[in-house]
Amino acid sequence: MYRTNNCGELRIEHVGREIVLSGWVQKIRDKGFMMWIDLRDRYGITQLIFDETYTPKELMEKARGCGREFVIKATGTVVERSSKNPNIPTGDIEIKVTELEILNKSEVPPFTIEDETDGGDELRMKYRYLDLRRNPVKKGILLRHKMAQEVRKYLDGQGFVEVETPVLIKSTPEGARDFVVPSRVHPGEFYALPQSPQTFKQLLMVAGYDRYFQIVKCFRDEDLRADRQPEFTQIDCEMAFVEREDILNTFEGLAKHMFKTIKNVEFQGDFPRMSYQKAMELYGSDKPDIRFDMHFNDLTETVKGKNFPVFDSAEFIAGICAKGCGEYTRKQLDELVLFVQKPQIGSKGLVYVKCNEDGTFKSTVDKFYNNDDLKIWAQKMNAAPGDLLLVLAGTKKQTTSALCELRLEMGERLGLRDKNKFCPLWVVDFPLLEWDEESKRFFAMHHPFTSPVKEDIGLFETNPGDIRANAYDFVVNGVEVGGGSIRIHDEKLQSTMFKTLGFTPEEAQAQFGFLLNAFKYGAPPHGGIAFGFDRWTAMFAGNDTIRDVIAFPKNNAAKDVMIDSPATISNEQLKELSIKIDQK
Ligand code: ASP
Repeated sequence: MYRTNNCGELRIEHVGREIVLSGWVQKIRDKGFMMWIDLRDRYGITQLIFDETYTPKELMEKARGCGREFVIKATGTVVERSSKNPNIPTGDIEIKVTELEILNKSEVPPFTIEDETDGGDELRMKYRYLDLRRNPVKKGILLRHKMAQEVRKYLDGQGFVEVETPVLIKSTPEGARDFVVPSRVHPGEFYALPQSPQTFKQLLMVAGYDRYFQIVKCFRDEDLRADRQPEFTQIDCEMAFVEREDILNTFEGLAKHMFKTIKNVEFQGDFPRMSYQKAMELYGSDKPDIRFDMHFNDLTETVKGKNFPVFDSAEFIAGICAKGCGEYTRKQLDELVLFVQKPQIGSKGLVYVKCNEDGTFKSTVDKFYNNDDLKIWAQKMNAAPGDLLLVLAGTKKQTTSALCELRLEMGERLGLRDKNKFCPLWVVDFPLLEWDEESKRFFAMHHPFTSPVKEDIGLFETNPGDIRANAYDFVVNGVEVGGGSIRIHDEKLQSTMFKTLGFTPEEAQAQFGFLLNAFKYGAPPHGGIAFGFDRWTAMFAGNDTIRDVIAFPKNNAAKDVMIDSPATISNEQLKELSIKIDQK
């Protein structure tokens, strides 16, 4: 028998019990006449003690022969510790070892298996199986498991059926590039890996499975960003015979269940809702962090006409009021200027106004604006003495996104983005279509299966850009945790949508014939949502990166450095697949 107990469960009430433990050597402390080994497994750490006065010499030597990460089995008696360790749950006891078996040796690990490790990112990824032994990573993986169970429990309780959909499919246009898989039996033909099970879940609605969900891998060949992985997991859901309200209620229920069971956070009343337009106007983002206000103030009309060329030539001028920052030092203000000038933010400069306690103002534009002018700004921005106004100008698009970043930066600096505070909301009424200047065509903002709101359907003929989508995003603390829509379930409307997106009827038929056909056979009204499971877990774990809640993630270059993937394949394999590599 390898173990009677695990390394995390023995307590003072077990004193006197004969036990067997197996695990990994975390640490050895050798005082010569006495030795201690910290034995670790998934459940915790238990201290083993060896003492010359009663431990036979060979056993002492055997213990001394163990190294870090050796796998050992220890038999012994639970005894009370003389110096207790209040920091670990097993800290009142230790094991007086009578037998020790080395089950497997270990090489010295390339980094310390401690909460604070000396291993850099790349090394930890290369030896991920060792990294996974560390508490911070383990915590994320266990949390993920718990969340998956709670999702299943809740949705099952609501009558949802978990259905698996295929991984080798034909591409669904979610907006990203597909990963493709060559077919051996059909030379020159390719499968695509699903960006999401979107069309399948809709077909399941046509098939009558009116409540579907799946915790499912999705694949998108996108440019890399900190919070992205080429393969990621969604909680994918769809319902039939529903309107937007039904979906929001059902999944607000799921979200509340998750907050309650995982974070012990309860929300009174409904989550707030905000239109896309309002979110952009107030926070410059379709996923606003509403843990703090500091909303945008449009100053375009207020500040022009005073011969300040930067403002006079700008399309859009807007600012935020940072409460209580009027005392910012020159150095702090310079940091903010440098912040907005970072290439990824892209502003030329930052105008600031300090609202002095005596009612006067000090600004970077004193040459153009007198005290009375600045007073108007301050009134417009609801500023009080002691506040700091930060104003950006430029094109609407650039200024909006830069001010959004500046607002988040100020929120961070003022400690307003507390990881333990959760402010969820629904963002609704997105535009259906986005115009792309380069290709001179419309793209679906969500995806081509999203239904327009009923009243706007007429606009397909006249002004497609103004059509609102019956779509919604679930946003928490500035993170888009989920998104979905009511779908088109009518073949004609779906064809109109494809046409608006630039598909010829033939192209639409070739790519989506299966869906258009299905809609001819009694498609019920339906809609759904998908949650980013990795992101949601990372947020609940308090992690900034989703990598820590994925057992075997890819690195920043989309590589798995542990298994060394992607990699070349043999010429035989290529031949079998009828593929020639174009060696550039
Ligand atoms: N399939 C969509 C996505 O992955 C979500 C949905 O509309 O349900 O974004």
